[in-house]
This record gives sequence, structure tokens and C-alpha cells, in this order.
Amino acid sequence: MKNIAEKLTNEEYEKNFAELHPPLTQNSAATEANRCLYCYDSPCMKACPTHIDISSFIKKIATGNLLGSAKTIFKSNWVPLTCARACPVQVLCEGACVFVEKGEKPIEIGRLQRFAIESYFNSYKPQLFSKEKSNGKNVGIIGSGPSGLACAAELSLLGYDVTVYEANKIPGGLNTWGIAPYKLRQADSLKEVEFIKSFGVKFKTNTKVGEDISFNDLYKKHDAIFIGIGLGESTRLRIPGEDLTGVVDALDFIEDVKNEKWDKVSVGKRVAVIGAGNTSIDAVTEAKRLGAEQVYVIYRRGTDDMSAYDFEYELAKSDEVIFYFKTMPKKITGDNFVEGIECVKVKLGEKNEKGKRETKVIPNSEFILPVDMVIKAVGQNISNNFINDIYEIKIERGKVVVDEDTFQTGNKKIFAGGDCINGGKEVVNAAYDGKMAAHGIDKYLNSNKKSAIIR
Ligand code: SF4
Repeated sequence: MKNIAEKLTNEEYEKNFAELHPPLTQNSAATEANRCLYCYDSPCMKACPTHIDISSFIKKIATGNLLGSAKTIFKSNWVPLTCARACPVQVLCEGACVFVEKGEKPIEIGRLQRFAIESYFNSYKPQLFSKEKSNGKNVGIIGSGPSGLACAAELSLLGYDVTVYEANKIPGGLNTWGIAPYKLRQADSLKEVEFIKSFGVKFKTNTKVGEDISFNDLYKKHDAIFIGIGLGESTRLRIPGEDLTGVVDALDFIEDVKNEKWDKVSVGKRVAVIGAGNTSIDAVTEAKRLGAEQVYVIYRRGTDDMSAYDFEYELAKSDEVIFYFKTMPKKITGDNFVEGIECVKVKLGEKNEKGKRETKVIPNSEFILPVDMVIKAVGQNISNNFINDIYEIKIERGKVVVDEDTFQTGNKKIFAGGDCINGGKEVVNAAYDGKMAAHGIDKYLNSNKKSAIIR
């Protein structure tokens, strides 16, 4: 990178990366919990992909039963601290709260969930769940992100010997490495990993399947396999200049920031981020917090088409980020280092069969933005992965095809969940997939068992 933003002081970094919503205190949590109507037919619970019994955990907070509250939450979701911090609650549970219809502020479900789980993690951490006795069967889990963790926790309690294989040196996948620190710190994700480890789950880190260990070896070793590898490679822009110094993938950039050695992360003075999804906004806000003077978002469609949530868009605007909508990158300019990005304006047409609007380039509308860094955030795919070599596994439109009830792939012994089957949704969706896949695996390996789970 040619022009690097000036380094800030440690105090400035700490201030910039401070969390946006501080935790509730004991009193404020009790007050908020007492506002809940404990609706009989809780719409908030239906809106949560993991169907946490929200009214019940809130009532337990109101009565001071914090361990009981945490247990209620864990029963449905094994990564609830991450979800409490990173879920788009405005469009899920809180968006469905009955208070919204009345025109009033919804119950702060996300912050209450955080309060209950942090209270547990800050306690002497008594075992909340009892394990079934060993059934002598073992399961290998590839990937320690939210779906892998959820699957591992559930199977371990069902009496399976579970080993998680993780390519990275620290487990947790996206929760540990891919969520902006203003939403979730790495240390919080690792609390969930440690909790699941306490059930007896083994983690083999620095172990990339297909490189450090072959998939065939795992296949022979385990009675069943769960694949929760997320989405691997970032999609290429396929424009000239993409390989210049100063062009980086958004997830690599966020991963560097997650180390919390902020003064070691280089950021340009002027940064262009390509794409307008959640990852793009995370990259944008981090670039600003690291000291970038000007950050641009370049997105080929309009505000209505963005996959970033409204609150993320508002956050970026409050950081004085400039958005170029209906604009496509055409070329990244520079000799060895990024010096600019040539863009072109587009016209939007009708929606295609995927619900995306076609774009048509407007002739002679090119312009150049002088930038020192380009961050690519245009999605990921699962190409170049060991999955492609397993011929029974079907991949359609970049997603692994599974049975929607059991999460079983075309190979009966292999199950999958999370981003690799849904193309990239929320952490909470991955947590649900992992849990349900564990029951699919239990059904496959223990077909005579009457009831899958009793706690
Ligand atoms: Fe409480 Fe709102 Fe859920 Fe009703 S919908 S149970 S008021 S959080």
C-alpha cells in the first residue's frame, strides 16, 4: 500500500473499537425483563431461527434465576453470546415483539440474552446439562464455526465421541475471526468454545482437511461426518488490477483486526470497499476506526437491494462513509500499488429469476476515485474445496444440497450445515443447522433409539 493512514494512539484505538451497546446492569436487566408481557404465543420466539423460549428466559431474569435463564437459552442455541451480540435482532426477535405493533420500543431481547449468558460465564459455571453415557460411536466435525460447535455440543451430550477439525490456529470460525469487534470480541467467542470443550469435545486446530489430513482418512475413522466449513474463497472481481498490492479480501482484513493488534494492521488513507453486504459494512467501519481518512462503498445496485441491514447502513453513514450506488468497478489502477479505482455508472433493469435486478452500463459514465486500498466484499464460494471431490455430494448454485429435516447429504454418512448449505446467512441460522444435523446424525447412527434427546 502506498499511502498508509497514520497510526493512532492506543487510547484512540480503544475508544474507536469500543462496543456500540454496553451490557445491561443487574438493575437495568431486571427492569427490562419486567417490561416483558410473557406472551402466551410469543411471536419473538417464532421469529428466532433457533426458537429460544424467549418469554421463559426473560421471566427467569425477572425472578433472579440467572442460571435457569442461561440454561433455557443454551437448550436451543449453543452460541448464544455470539448471537446476542451479532444477530440482527431488529429483523428477528425484537422486530417481532408485540410492542413494535403498539408503536413502542420492543423488549431488548438481545441485551437480556447477553446479560443471562455473561452472568453464567462470569459465575462459577456449574454444569447445566448432564451427558448421556457413551454409545461407543464417534463423529468427526469439519469446521469449528457456529454450525460445527452446535453440532459438536449436541452430539457430545447425546453420548458421542466428537472431534472437531479446524484449519485455523484458534477455533470458533466466523464467530472468532469474521465478526467486527464492535459487535463481538474474540474473547467472547472463545468462551463459547471453552464451554463446549467442557462437554468433552476434542478440537484439532491447525488441521486443514484436504491438506493436513485427508478427507478419506476422516471418513474411515468416524462413524459419521458433519461438514460446517462455511464458504471458503472470496469471489474474484475479475477486473484488471485485482492483484495489485493494496487489494485485500474483506474477511482477511477483518481477521487481522480481530487479533486486536490494531497498530499492526495497515489501512489506506483512502479506501474503497466493493459490495454492500454485512461483511462490507464491517470492513468499512473497521477501516474508519483504524484511521482511514475517507472510505467509499461501491455497489452496483441501489439501497433497496443492499443485503446490509438498515442499522449497519446508518452506522456507516454516521462514520461519514460515502456510498456510490449503481456503480461498478471497472479497473484498479496503479503500477505496483493501488492508486485509484475506475468505476462506471449503471442503470438498473427488471428483477431476474433470482430476484436481482439486471444492470446495464451507462456509456461514457466512467470516473476515477483516487484510493490507496481496495477491500473486496462481494461474497464467497465453496470452489477449490475437498467437498468437490466427494462425488455423492451434490452442489447446486454454490451450495451443498442436504435433506431439509436431517441435514444429510447424498452420502448417508455425511451431513452438512451453515453457510456451505445456505450460501451465507446469519450465525443463528448456522447454530440451528448444526443442532438439527446432530439429531439427523443421531437418527442415522441410532435408528432404533426412541427419543433423540431428553434433558
Ligand atoms: Fe416479551 Fe415481546 Fe416476546 Fe411478548 S413478544 S414475550 S413482550 S419479548
